[in-house]
Amino acid sequence: MSFQELELIEPILRALKTEGYTQPTPIQEQSIPIILKRRDLLGCAQTGTGKTAAFAIPMLQIMAEDLVSDKRKKGIKALILTPTRELAIQIDESFAAYGRHIPLKRKVIFGGVSQHPQTQALQQGVDILTATPGRLLDLMQQGYVNLQSIQLFVLDEADRMLDMGFVNDVKKIIAKLPAQRQTLFFSATMPNEIQSLANSILSNPARVEVTPVSSTANTIDQSIFFAEKKNKNALLVHLLKDKAVQSALVFTRTKHGADKVVKVLGTANIKAAAIHGNKSQNARQAALQSFKNKSIRVLVATDIAARGIDVDDLSHVINFELPEVSETYVHRIGRTGRAGNTGIAFSFCDTEEKGLLRDIQKLIGKQIPVRVDHPYPIANASVELREPHAHVAGGPRRNTNSGQKKKWHGNSGSR
Ligand code: AMP
Repeated sequence: MSFQELELIEPILRALKTEGYTQPTPIQEQSIPIILKRRDLLGCAQTGTGKTAAFAIPMLQIMAEDLVSDKRKKGIKALILTPTRELAIQIDESFAAYGRHIPLKRKVIFGGVSQHPQTQALQQGVDILTATPGRLLDLMQQGYVNLQSIQLFVLDEADRMLDMGFVNDVKKIIAKLPAQRQTLFFSATMPNEIQSLANSILSNPARVEVTPVSSTANTIDQSIFFAEKKNKNALLVHLLKDKAVQSALVFTRTKHGADKVVKVLGTANIKAAAIHGNKSQNARQAALQSFKNKSIRVLVATDIAARGIDVDDLSHVINFELPEVSETYVHRIGRTGRAGNTGIAFSFCDTEEKGLLRDIQKLIGKQIPVRVDHPYPIANASVELREPHAHVAGGPRRNTNSGQKKKWHGNSGSR
């Protein structure tokens, strides 16, 4: 299917051409016609599937049509709520890119920076507002934002909103939206609380689902490196010495761990920067910018900070430590191998992390190949996909989380 077949208007088709998009992704193919019919949508999709364009493109088209038909009302027409600043910026950039030939005003607002430029822009008039919940609520309470004219509302990454403790803020914001509106709701998973939030804000939604979170794209070449904890630094340096690693996102479990890795890499003359919640917004943006413009090759991140890091040609994801929650593994490695490109995911696993690896393999339903061609292997290390009963008791840090979250696709028909 082509974008033309989705009956997009010429200014959008032209912008997509400039972006180099030749074909819609599956979520776009499914969502765009539904949204253009002005129906509510419940979308189960994670970052990396092209979901931003799946909502941004038809929203722009609807707003462009309203401009022409002179239905234009004053005030903010579209609101997109998303959990992190990085995602907010990227969503706003997407609207800018796809809407470059449509005269609509945008603004992105998030916390951690001065509110003055944000309130100034709001006073000058905004059509499309992308925001994180905390700052938006703050500005609403100060009287800078009025949501009475919203026609289109997107709740992005609803499950992350819950994880990050934003659900109450989100509910307060939704309470101020006009009842007559179109709502698009996106979440990678559907725990009960999110399902009931969806039920309460959507009206007769169409459901769309792409790749459930438990499956990893087969464009990603995954491998495990068994290595003791004390050897992980040296192993990372060893792997990064290979010039084939053009751009790597390295995941650590803690902020402190991220800083330590950056230091170790610096000593080995490998330029790297860390991106995590302790860094100022400016430092995070600067790190991301140097990574995007290739002046550094390695970005070290914690999971929360990495949500929504959008780099098109990321060659490698390296799990310096395995995540406690198996689904996080899928999210992490989903940063590479996007939009049809191939990607490589390396995961380090020390003796204590074998329980985590077992859970990850169970979740993704496959055994990840082990690489032994490195200087720090652990003799005879392996973790089988099918484990004998002996392991039932679990290790000291066994992941107990996988399977607790209900997957959205198991839930259809519950309304
Ligand atoms: P998202 O899931 O919204 O984070 O998008 C993932 C990445 O895919 C972004 O870098 C987009 O620019 C890119 N992308 C989205 N749609 C397409 C498309 N139809 N063709 C090529 N790249 C796309």
